[in-house]
Amino acid sequence: MTDENKPLNRETLMAQGLGWMESVHKSLAPGIYPATTYEREGDGSYPTGRIYSRPDNPNYEQPEQLLKTLEGGSDALLFSSGMSAGVAVVQALKPGDHMIIPAVMYWGLRDWILSFGKTWGIEVSSVPNGDLAALEQAVKPGKTKLLWMETPANPTWEIDDIAAWAAVAKNAGARLAVDNTVATPLLTNPLKLGADIVMHSATKYLNGHSDVLAGALITAEEDDFWDRIITNRRTNGTVMGPFEAWLLLRGMRTLHLRVERACSSAMAIARHFDGAKGIRAVLYPGLDSHPGHDIAAKQMSGGFSGMLSLCIEGGEEAAMAVAARLKVFKRATSLGGIESLVEHRASIEGEGTPCPKDLLRLSIGIESVDDLVADIEQALAGRNI
Ligand code: PLP
Repeated sequence: MTDENKPLNRETLMAQGLGWMESVHKSLAPGIYPATTYEREGDGSYPTGRIYSRPDNPNYEQPEQLLKTLEGGSDALLFSSGMSAGVAVVQALKPGDHMIIPAVMYWGLRDWILSFGKTWGIEVSSVPNGDLAALEQAVKPGKTKLLWMETPANPTWEIDDIAAWAAVAKNAGARLAVDNTVATPLLTNPLKLGADIVMHSATKYLNGHSDVLAGALITAEEDDFWDRIITNRRTNGTVMGPFEAWLLLRGMRTLHLRVERACSSAMAIARHFDGAKGIRAVLYPGLDSHPGHDIAAKQMSGGFSGMLSLCIEGGEEAAMAVAARLKVFKRATSLGGIESLVEHRASIEGEGTPCPKDLLRLSIGIESVDDLVADIEQALAGRNI
């Protein structure tokens, strides 16, 4: 194995999976370890430290170390999904604690936090994205233990200032957890901006091929809170299968190429359709006109993500009709894969969603950007290509 701390650029670390070599056969790709249990010595000890695969598996180590390195953390854990990773953070709170979430964030986690909070006795306050004063006012001294943020926030891509949220968390004696799924460790490293925990739905960009469900947490400190998260994964068994972890590592080895392409194509598409006929608004933090652009430019480097939304003139019906006419974009949920996807988010999120009804969320893949632009143009014009 190569020393993980040697000063190689992150593109090299990703492409070579930290340069790790499988020790028995010297294979460049790791083996897959499906074993759930490991032999004890006659004296009852476990010579390799491995006991059972609910706590850990050899296939987790390489992706966990790579994520830890990319995010600049002190430890990382893989989970069976992004949701199970997020849930583990919230369940590390204790009844009576208070947490703060933004109004716009991944709806599945937001809904779960709001309902779980009621049954678990955790008070949850929701604050408008981009409103630091509202965040400061929402803090309950002595009670607030967790600030949860997501930036850019799915699906309107509002931006919050990670360093400013980290300062509020610190003053309150609370932790800051950041869902960094959309930015990826390549564009933003929240731990370096003062966050305590980073979460990823590794189902998205990290794996990148729409064929693995996975989540990850990376921590700045291996403290009591982190211990509770480790226990949570071990007891709930929210671990990945070894083959899925193997696939995740394979996906991560091309992360930089995919993210670079997705970012440059998203920027080109945002600019092309900004102010275009049939478009009410383009929501993309890379545009100067985006209200969070300056903060995004400060805390994101190398791009503004591969995610953008188009608000279509004519409302929900017109948006649905545009989505129906797209051909290169596939109508499917999820994001961060190599293929471009479109989704009418308001109808997925249902009652009470803050998502505008005329919004189409686009996840930009690695196809030819010309084909993607032409596809949107023909869908807007209502004719066939
Ligand atoms: N966070 C964000 C930003 C997401 O978009 C999603 C899923 O869509 C999740 C978390 C949940 O991740 P998973 O679907 O891997 O459980």
